[in-house]
Amino acid sequence: MNLETIAAIATALGEASISVVRISGPDAKSVASRMVRTPGGQKVVFEGPRRVLYGKIVHPTTDVVIDEGIVLWMPGPRSYTAEDVVELQVHGGIQLVQTVLEATLAAGARLAEPGEFTKRAFLNGRIDLSQAEAVIDLIRAKTDFAGRVALQQVQGRFSEEIRSLRRTLIELQAHVEVTIDYPEHDVESVACQQVLDVGAKLMAGIDALLEGAEMGRILRDGVATAIVGRPNVGKSSLLNALLRRDRAIVTDIPGTTRDVLEEYVNVRGIPLKLIDTAGIRETSDVVERIGVDKSRQSIREAELVLVVLDGTVPLTPEDEDILKDTEGLKRVIVVNKMDAGIDAKLEASVDQVDAAAVIKISAREHRHIEQLESKLAQIVQGELSVERDTTYMTNVRQKNLLEVARSDLQLAIDAAQAGATLDLIAVHLQSTYEELGLVIGEETGEDLLDEIFSRFCLGK
Ligand code: GDP
Ligand code: ZN
Repeated sequence: MNLETIAAIATALGEASISVVRISGPDAKSVASRMVRTPGGQKVVFEGPRRVLYGKIVHPTTDVVIDEGIVLWMPGPRSYTAEDVVELQVHGGIQLVQTVLEATLAAGARLAEPGEFTKRAFLNGRIDLSQAEAVIDLIRAKTDFAGRVALQQVQGRFSEEIRSLRRTLIELQAHVEVTIDYPEHDVESVACQQVLDVGAKLMAGIDALLEGAEMGRILRDGVATAIVGRPNVGKSSLLNALLRRDRAIVTDIPGTTRDVLEEYVNVRGIPLKLIDTAGIRETSDVVERIGVDKSRQSIREAELVLVVLDGTVPLTPEDEDILKDTEGLKRVIVVNKMDAGIDAKLEASVDQVDAAAVIKISAREHRHIEQLESKLAQIVQGELSVERDTTYMTNVRQKNLLEVARSDLQLAIDAAQAGATLDLIAVHLQSTYEELGLVIGEETGEDLLDEIFSRFCLGK
């Protein structure tokens, strides 16, 4: 493979104490040696085992000193990409780190495409596809728990479960194939029974992974949660209380929240994507109306709705509209401003609407926020159990492939049940095997199959 040497800024752009420029590829050492000098100005040769050194970073053509910093030398295959890697840890400064990056390009590297380092780790066989994709999820994880799930996947836990399904499947295939090869043994019905028995086990394994997919999606993307209510009931205050910092503007002037704000909050490990909407009400103000339209839209798109009511006054017709609009959705009716006293009429009416969904809080004084969080977590989890040690699939591509594999396995089972020919059953089993391989980006396993068959037949 004739790979180019790539370089990119590996840390977030912005002011920081340290930024890292990563160089990977066959020429990483020569690119780096053109740019790194000892504190005394000597050239540095990169070879031998891993090394950490302190030195100056210079421009390769002018030799002008750009910065000084720590340089890591990580020869392949024991590096992130499994290639030779040099990391330049320089001072964090938007311009400075750009200059260092440009210097690596002048020294012969090419600018890396997004994800290219991870792609190389995959191509070089250090990680499989599902692990590579999990790296992205890990970077984007919105809560500790979501991060842990992605980390498990990076470490190959999900792939291991798929591999184990494939091992079981390939044994089954071998039995079926052998029976085809030796028709005189007249063991067709035995093979069919085996397809039914082992097939049921495999099916259970696939289903368990698919069940984890929904929770995986939630952990990755967050639960779209709309905070709705007429102006001044305390939506922005509630958002702030959940965020525990000031993000939304809180004012006494109705209609101040014109934009839809989005924020992630961590509720018992589950990320909620909170959307604070402009107050829902009829309005002639154009800017405000855009906000109101967005509110209606966010109710439609939400998976969970927080209906906020002003607890100090009876329900208004607008409140009633909102309650009606959100009927049948997963919702919590948040009666706010309990610190100022709850209106008895309001209390009676909300209890009549949906007593189980009601919770009284004070957003401004942060009262009952914990209880609200418990309620939210309870609603989101529902039947989904957040088991700390379950494997959650976090990836839509994998989920789709797994569903295809499932339906092929079902075809094999149906065929076995109907007493179809072993040839037909074998075809469905092979598709199942291949699709499971695609989930983790593995080859179709043709060679592996051949190998197993030859061994199997030899032993007979
Ligand atoms: P929004 O228009 O629904 O986003 O409402 P805001 O959060 O901007 O709040 C409107 C007004 O209600 C502000 O003056 C807040 O201080 C007040 N408010 C919000 N929450 C509470 C609360 O829990 N108790 C009391 N007494 N006032 C509150
Ligand atoms: Zn607001």
